[in-house]
Amino acid sequence: MAEALKPLETRSTCCYCGVGCGVIIEHDGKQITGVRGDPEHPANFGRLCTKGSTLHLTVQPDSLAVRALYPELRTNRESQRARTDWNTALDHAADRFAQVIREHGPDAVAFYISGQLLTEDYYVFNKLAKGLIGTNNVDTNSRLCMSSAVVGYKQTLGADSPPACYDDLKDTQCLFITGSNTAFAHPILFRRIEDARAANPAMKMIVVDPRRTDTAEQADLHLALLPGTDIALYNAMLHVMLWEEWIKPDYIAAHTEGFEALRKVVREYTPAMAAGICGLDKKDIEKAAEWFATSGATMSMYCMGTNQSSHGTHNNAAIINMHLATAQIGKPGAGPFSLTGQPNAMGGREVGGLSNLLSGHRDLGNAEHRAEVARLWGVDSVPEKPGLSAVELFDAMAEGKVKAVWIACTNPAQSMPDQNLVHKALETCDFVVVQEAYRNTETARYADLLLPATSWGEKTGTVTNSERRISRVIQAVPAPGEARHDWDAAMDFARRLGNKLDNAQTGKLFPYANEEEIWNEHRESTRGRDLDITGLSYATLESQGPQQWPFPAGATRGKVRLYEDGIFPTASGKAKFVVTEHRETVEKADAQYPIRLTTGRLRDQWHGMSRTGTVARLYAHEAEPMVHMNAADMARRNLKDGDMVRVKSRRGEVVLRLLESASVRAGQAFMPMHWGRNAMSGLGTNALTIKAFDPYSKQPELKHAAVQIEKLEDS
Ligand code: SF4
Repeated sequence: MAEALKPLETRSTCCYCGVGCGVIIEHDGKQITGVRGDPEHPANFGRLCTKGSTLHLTVQPDSLAVRALYPELRTNRESQRARTDWNTALDHAADRFAQVIREHGPDAVAFYISGQLLTEDYYVFNKLAKGLIGTNNVDTNSRLCMSSAVVGYKQTLGADSPPACYDDLKDTQCLFITGSNTAFAHPILFRRIEDARAANPAMKMIVVDPRRTDTAEQADLHLALLPGTDIALYNAMLHVMLWEEWIKPDYIAAHTEGFEALRKVVREYTPAMAAGICGLDKKDIEKAAEWFATSGATMSMYCMGTNQSSHGTHNNAAIINMHLATAQIGKPGAGPFSLTGQPNAMGGREVGGLSNLLSGHRDLGNAEHRAEVARLWGVDSVPEKPGLSAVELFDAMAEGKVKAVWIACTNPAQSMPDQNLVHKALETCDFVVVQEAYRNTETARYADLLLPATSWGEKTGTVTNSERRISRVIQAVPAPGEARHDWDAAMDFARRLGNKLDNAQTGKLFPYANEEEIWNEHRESTRGRDLDITGLSYATLESQGPQQWPFPAGATRGKVRLYEDGIFPTASGKAKFVVTEHRETVEKADAQYPIRLTTGRLRDQWHGMSRTGTVARLYAHEAEPMVHMNAADMARRNLKDGDMVRVKSRRGEVVLRLLESASVRAGQAFMPMHWGRNAMSGLGTNALTIKAFDPYSKQPELKHAAVQIEKLEDS
């Protein structure tokens, strides 16, 4: 039972990263005055990082200058948007969407939503597109961060369900962090890692990252592999495990399928061969394999560096292969644990909020699943044709095939790869709706209709963190201006659109009076599925605190760890090895673009900085965008620390300051992802990045682009 709060305190959840820390919001009923970590929350036990502990500063009265406070509409592209009322705004939107649907069919409209929406918001958008309109064109910025993890889990373990949890760190003997700067991207989880290491000095920590990040600095073994060579490393580690007979044949025989095919492939990946591909010392590969296989309890944690790759799904599968071969799964302290970047990327997965998924971890490609969802929703059918994934969606907009788009709680004009193309797409699309808390985003500039949305502290619902833990988000203060909840505005629009399309079912499809009614329908959609939460109500979450799924009817607590019985949710009950092979990144460095650019997060900023960018103290760590480069590369180009440089790829260029950094190897450079258009540069980091994507997950290769870097002549 959680401790009682003071009268004007509200228990909620941080809205930034996938750690999902609990917060207590201090307020006076009108204004948020402070925030502190919730000591009862099992993700953070009272701790908050720099971003979480300054959340209240993002909702001070002076932040209203950048908030969207009322609907704004322009009826032609030559005019400026002007203030309007909600009725006019939503009627206009419904008219425009209905016209496009009548003239061009349902696939000419689309929704692009966000892992920062609450589960209830996500559910309504998904139903609006797939249930009412009859298009699967609903995708999310989570496609950019975790879709490779989703497919990686499904291909190997049979379901999109991270098997481990934060508490497992207490029992972990070897922590294998790969493609994750946990110290910056998941700071409170990293504190837990530090605690676990302090309590267990024998615990080994391996970090795989091309850069010497703050996380890598603390590793017992840092494998600074060449970008994109992950699979060669993992296959070589498995090769060593086989050679040394560190694998677990009994577990493989009883609980897995497909090992022989993988064995034949990894036989070729000798440590010496992989050392050449990865730019590593062969002995370090052997050491990593030994620690991984023989520790007794190995946990892998991985994130964007693994997922944002043209072979991201197989990066995930190759990690999971090692866990299955060594039986490092389904026991305390062990398992392949993909970390979610955003606060509710996991909730979006639960409701099927991607263009190829359906509610309750169902697949669009499965006719039975489509029929189940149609029955649940009371519609004739759910369309079979897969919707457009994020990159495909903006391509289709640029080609004039998608003519109306609704973008909620995300800023694709800054966060999508190949920004020039995305800007062209937004210019080409006939009607762009942007539903946003902030009116100053890159994407809001393109809005024909800007709808003000509520933000953290002003809305209610649920989010699910990386360890499958569902937490309540609770409104503490009234929304500013005329801002409305995302689900509420989407439902109002749906009802109007349904009437214009003469859909008699609309009222039945969208009957919700509040978030809890949406939640209750969502949980029913999970009945009998791997994530079954039919035993979990808002009241349970409030009385017993955040819970992990599954939590079926009759359960008294959520499931801490999955697959402890060795039974996997596949047809045979066995996990599957996936044959993975080394492949190059799509864009290679060459004579014209000789530097390999990677992107990532800073400690104190979040995504496109709409929120963190309003807090002065969060600039103390890094005040401006910089490109980090190795001293040897700088000397070769006659560059000095602090020089203004032009960074150019085949897709665009940006101008920013140069920072000498020993954290990047020669031939590589790093840029933070956060900055968009700035005083020095027409576009942001993603003007340089590439839209090529993984064939299974369709997640773009945001981590790898070839660039040239040269001094700005007059700097
Ligand atoms: Fe928020 Fe993540 Fe920091 Fe926790 S670690 S306070 S969830 S940003």
